[in-house]
Amino acid sequence: MRETQGYNGVWALAEQAGGAVQRIGFELLARGRSLADKRGAKLTALVLGHQIDPAGVQELIDRGADAVLVIEAPQLEHFLPEPYTACMDWAIREHKPEIVIAGATSTGRTLMPLVAIKTDAGLTADCNLLDIEPETGNLLQTRPAIGGNILATIKCPEHRPQMATVRPHSTRPAERQDGRTGEIHRVTPPAELLTSRVRRVGFQPDEQSGGLQDADTVVAVGRGVKKADNIPLASALAEQLGAALGATRDVVDRGWLSYPHQIGLSGKTVTPRLYVGAGVSGSIQHLAGMQTAETIVAINTDPDAQLFRVADFGIVGDLFEILPLLTDRLRARRESRGE
Ligand code: FAD
Repeated sequence: MRETQGYNGVWALAEQAGGAVQRIGFELLARGRSLADKRGAKLTALVLGHQIDPAGVQELIDRGADAVLVIEAPQLEHFLPEPYTACMDWAIREHKPEIVIAGATSTGRTLMPLVAIKTDAGLTADCNLLDIEPETGNLLQTRPAIGGNILATIKCPEHRPQMATVRPHSTRPAERQDGRTGEIHRVTPPAELLTSRVRRVGFQPDEQSGGLQDADTVVAVGRGVKKADNIPLASALAEQLGAALGATRDVVDRGWLSYPHQIGLSGKTVTPRLYVGAGVSGSIQHLAGMQTAETIVAINTDPDAQLFRVADFGIVGDLFEILPLLTDRLRARRESRGE
């Protein structure tokens, strides 16, 4: 039996870029707050970086953190696996948090396994649900398994900290609350933790997906669109709505749209205010990437399509009629408003 005593509190890793705290940190605070409240424990946001913007640190408190631990050094300006792992391991050994969560981003999915090995802890990747088991206080980590056909709930009763990564955009950022206060600790790690065999040589953002993950509105197409030549029907609607264009895996596999457009288990997770799915059946793997959308509109010729089960508005009809109709109506409305 490993040591589980003496561990306390929930940590959420708040990633930064150029010193600015990123949205994923605020999403994790929403998850972390509920876990910390159920454990009667403190919620701490952990930031690693260099010259972190104080406004971002305060925003972590405004959005639910009781404390922020900022580990700062010039060598931590950009994510590098070795110094980040060493510093996180150092902080965990020092403070002994019971639960540590991070985003299932490329940083989180690289860093957390390394930290799990160092701290001899368990780790569940890519969770979409986190909860506390009332009888034991253990962290319940739920994620899709076996190709998304089942949801598996995983526990680590004999290891501390309990660690999990959470899909970005699988929840909304925690709301700001006025007047919240919290402790801010800025620490410099020991120099020997900051060495790295990896050097950052450059960074090229992915511009192909048209900001799909951050879009407020998404128009997604499925195999019902029949061929690549018909994609402009969906892009025209997307343009009128100011939406990003998404797709099912079947559309991507056929080469009608590129992979950065794919929504779902093996693609991106989106949380838009409005999702419009045309010719999308609503497979469990696709739903895994979009069912947290605020309002879902389904357009499908088959009244039994799965997407209708999660939809707020359903149009049983042919997308080749409906999409141009919607596009024309929206265009006419914008023109009548002089937009
Ligand atoms: P279909 O299921 O074929 O549905 C097409 C729909 O179009 C039908 O409902 C049909 O009624 C409708 N339709 C046809 N003609 C019209 C018309 N004229 N007007 C209106 N509607 C029409 N899928 C994803 O999307 N994302 C993922 O990330 C993903 N990951 C996966 C990972 C694994 C491990 C596996 C095994 C599968 C994954 N899939 C994923 C694939 C998934 O199982 C489905 O095959 C896929 O989502 C189906 O895509 P679709 O809805 O475009 O096609």
